Amino acid sequence: MYGKFKEHLQQELEQIREAGLFKSERIITSSQDAEIRLENGMKVLNFCANNYLGLSNHPELIRAAQSAMDTHGYGMSSVRFICGTQDLHKSLEKKIAAFFGTADTILYAACFDANGGLFEPLLTAEDAIISDALNHASIIDGVRLCKAQRYRYRHNDMEDLEQQLIQAQEQRFRVIVTDGVFSMDGDTAPVDRICELADKYNAITVVDESHSAGVVGETGRGVTELYGVRGKVDIITGTLGKAFGGAIGGFTTGHGEVIEMLRQRSRPYLFSNSLPPSVVAAGIRMFDMMDETTELQQKLHRNTDYFMEKMTAAGFDIKPTRSAICAVMLYDAKLSQTMATRLLDEGIYVIGFYYPVVPEGQARIRVQLSAAHRQEHLDRAIDGFMKVGRELKVIG
Ligand SMILES: *Cc1c(COP(=O)(O)O)cnc(C)c1O
Repeated sequence: MYGKFKEHLQQELEQIREAGLFKSERIITSSQDAEIRLENGMKVLNFCANNYLGLSNHPELIRAAQSAMDTHGYGMSSVRFICGTQDLHKSLEKKIAAFFGTADTILYAACFDANGGLFEPLLTAEDAIISDALNHASIIDGVRLCKAQRYRYRHNDMEDLEQQLIQAQEQRFRVIVTDGVFSMDGDTAPVDRICELADKYNAITVVDESHSAGVVGETGRGVTELYGVRGKVDIITGTLGKAFGGAIGGFTTGHGEVIEMLRQRSRPYLFSNSLPPSVVAAGIRMFDMMDETTELQQKLHRNTDYFMEKMTAAGFDIKPTRSAICAVMLYDAKLSQTMATRLLDEGIYVIGFYYPVVPEGQARIRVQLSAAHRQEHLDRAIDGFMKVGRELKVIG
């Protein structure tokens, strides 16, 4: 029976290759860091990880993880509600709530699960979900799993959001959902205006802080801090897999009743294993560090400002950003790939994105800054961009 299916898969894979959309994985043989070693022995500067605060390989988090393995073991072998909840899990949930200024938190194996299990337990066909057109795949999937009526507003377009809210007035409850930082442009959702509209039209707000928590805002509290609406957003989701140490784990944080209902009914929580003690303990240490100092945020913001300033001065077309994502616009798909390959030869690891990941004619190289980058790393990257940019006539 497999024969026919195999042929079908081979054809589909061939089509993916022909369309130039085949994703291959580059193998790294070092830990995740500002500088990494590739399988071919080459050492490159890493500008494409979500390691915004440089915590992926932080000695204190490694120590916290190791010592939790000594005291709490390796794995949980259980979902939370049977025998998968340790003191550590409760403590991390409290720390996350304190960080965001919310009442309670529920942990998931990943933010993909947090978003996947968010809507269906809370809403029914009587309700409406109003979603930004560029929201993350996990939000789209979570919305699909829920029977609520679906509305979409043009990316960050508050007039369109208002129109959708007006149209959704018949429904029992309205939920507005948005990414905090959008990963391709690095732009932020104007959550202050979203909260105003939510007040005006009686809606509940959900913000996914995956790319913004730890990163944006003076103390890294995310877009609610950046826009001065801390404590006003009803539900925040996020990941431990990016700025917050980069291991694994997701969460939803917000009002007590919301979190309690999710513990009762959220399927990825009820039917999936509990996070391992090592990851949870490192998470606790990480949130303690966030309270102790904002040094890492300051370093990240300085690095981002420096990189943006030098690249703009060099003549590159950079999208305005308030996050640690910097989109170097090239517009041409092929050029984005040639440029990324040439930069890798120069020891700079970045990724070129093109349609359908970004809109047609909007190809770019995405650069992700980190607090782990030192001045010399930034300068080497900028020099590499200038050299290759001149060679490919991107800059004069
Ligand atoms: C990365 C990301 C996720 C997924 O997070 P994981 O914890 O890796 O599953 C969800 N939402 C947004 C906006 C993201 O950027």
